[in-house]
Amino acid sequence: MNAAVCELIECGLQASADERASEGLERALAACAGELEQTRARLAEAELRREAAREREQARARIERALAERARHELASCPQCREPVRGTDLLVSGRCPTCGRALTALLSPRPQLGAPDRDEYLALLGALGGLVGLALASTSENTD
Ligand SMILES: [Zn+2]
Repeated sequence: MNAAVCELIECGLQASADERASEGLERALAACAGELEQTRARLAEAELRREAAREREQARARIERALAERARHELASCPQCREPVRGTDLLVSGRCPTCGRALTALLSPRPQLGAPDRDEYLALLGALGGLVGLALASTSENTD
């Protein structure tokens, strides 16, 4: 009789321990599922950011190619030798490729109604020149 009671009590304790273990496993599983969900969400965000960065890079490359192409066009003539000068001569080297004369005077806006501030205009052109130089460097495989 005593042995049977002891066995029953042991079985009850074992069942209770199994139940606690099972609850613990369920909690751990739920925590893992939550972490997996967060990881998937972070991965999706990172992929969206990567795709946006790739599109920005493609747009930047297109703009640089277009700018470099435009800068290679002839757009004025040298005031001294009358040879044609290109956008790159005006904006990057600042000199006539034929006679070497400084071309900065060509960049100066004529005094007229609505003309830009001279210093602002020259600063803007200087920045544009830097951009053109970068564009030419990054597309140099297409030069000549
Ligand atoms: Zn010249």
